Amino acid sequence: MTKLTDQSLLKKASYWQGEWHDADNCFDVTNPANGDVIAKVANSSADDAEKAVAAAHRAFNAWAARPAAERAELLLRWQQLLLEHQDDLALLLTLEQGKPLAEAKGEIAYGAGYLQWFAEEAKRVYGDTIPAKTDDQRIIVIKQPVGVVAAVTPWNFPNAMIARKAAAALAAGCTFVVKPAQLTPLSALAMAELADRAGIPAGVFNVITSTDAKAIGEVLTEDKRVAKFSFTGSTKIGKQLAKQCAGTVKRVSLELGGNAPFIVFDDADLDAAIDGLMASKFRNAGQTCVCTNRILVQQKVLAAFTEKLLKAIGKLKLGDGTADNVDIGPLINHDACDKVDKLLNEALALGAKLQCGGKRQAADSLFYLPTLITGVNNDMAVAQQEIFGPVAAIQSFDTDAEAIALANATDSGLAAYFYSRDIGRVWRVAEALQYGMVGINEGMVSNPAAPFGGVKQSGYGREGSKYGLADYLDIKYLCLGGLAD
Ligand code: NAP
Repeated sequence: MTKLTDQSLLKKASYWQGEWHDADNCFDVTNPANGDVIAKVANSSADDAEKAVAAAHRAFNAWAARPAAERAELLLRWQQLLLEHQDDLALLLTLEQGKPLAEAKGEIAYGAGYLQWFAEEAKRVYGDTIPAKTDDQRIIVIKQPVGVVAAVTPWNFPNAMIARKAAAALAAGCTFVVKPAQLTPLSALAMAELADRAGIPAGVFNVITSTDAKAIGEVLTEDKRVAKFSFTGSTKIGKQLAKQCAGTVKRVSLELGGNAPFIVFDDADLDAAIDGLMASKFRNAGQTCVCTNRILVQQKVLAAFTEKLLKAIGKLKLGDGTADNVDIGPLINHDACDKVDKLLNEALALGAKLQCGGKRQAADSLFYLPTLITGVNNDMAVAQQEIFGPVAAIQSFDTDAEAIALANATDSGLAAYFYSRDIGRVWRVAEALQYGMVGINEGMVSNPAAPFGGVKQSGYGREGSKYGLADYLDIKYLCLGGLAD
């Protein structure tokens, strides 16, 4: 870790009440590219999580009472510090998560973008006046922060998944406690260090690192002082945590898994579709919730599209994310590689054809070769589960109705993509897809001004945009009476 310009961004303790807290024991954070231990981080307990919640609760009234413009100023200072330290933050992220440095830098800028956008939006939390039934009353609606927010986040975007929750929560006037994934706590702790330097008051932003997700999760979902719980991660864990929140009737937001279709119609610009697909399929080695999982290509352009895709995949460079010109880093761990192997082997056994890749670089390596399979059908597990790896799986279809039916035949509903130049088809397909986000002639849709989120079992709630801020606000109706002369 000698390469960090600012070594004090490497924090190893949990952070609450504006202070760093060691624990009785530590856990290792390893670099997936080579297995090296990067740091030993505090393994905090459920008691510690309770202390972090108490700190957030103590800080709430004063933070909520600050003028929005002051909260905005602090968020902007935090954003600027993230950008000033972009190189160090990106290096930490690549070391603990594996994605190429250029992508890690992009993630830091993307996370900082949420801080900026919500700092601006904090000043636009407007209420309403509503015509009353009688002339001696007035109806007024004000919006207030929900209270303490607790969050649990995944390893695939160790900075941005926290930034987009914390930015909205703090902008609204909420205080915040997050448990990052145990595989990637260093990015979260570096964010806490910069929040501190930005002058975010003690108790407003808190981080609990631990390997005991269950125990920490119980505190965050069951403590009465937590008003809202926001989760990004797998559908399985999200369902369980939503149940835990029911006991105290918390507001809940769930950003869960996806199974994105990428539809290529016969009138598409095939080169643009290849560019969009490469970004949406192979970014972060295929480990994103909005990654293309199923490629659906209209029969007439199947051969031409497959040939172009094979060529594009052939140009991808696999390697350690800190090396130059690398496009794809390692998968996060051996379980991830085993899952990809299993899905791939089952598809091949059922008749899919391997066009390239299909295995790890070496037997015990986490580097998985960029892979293309064709002849897939929607019943195969590779089409029904998140692959979360660099495997492009092509199916074909004949009619628009068939493409829509295939695309919607899943319990997930996060992101979908399609390429067409026919305006009528564009509207019909966009409206028929049962997804929270649809990229039309676009392979990357996420952006702080837009509402990110899913339908069906991909979750509920939105992050980014005015809808993302609304998720952290309560509506209060004031009835002002006795106004008659
Ligand atoms: P995961 O296993 O659900 O873990 C996510 C977080 O939940 C981690 O912090 C994990 O802690 C924690 N966790 C696990 N079990 C828990 C429990 N019993 N109680 C409380 N917390 C618990 O998911 P993942 O494998 O890290 O992430 C990949 C998944 O996230 C994919 O399905 C992906 O699609 C989804 N995702 C969705 C979005 C979105 O916006 N929709 C964005 C990114 C990722 P530990 O690290 O300690 O296990």
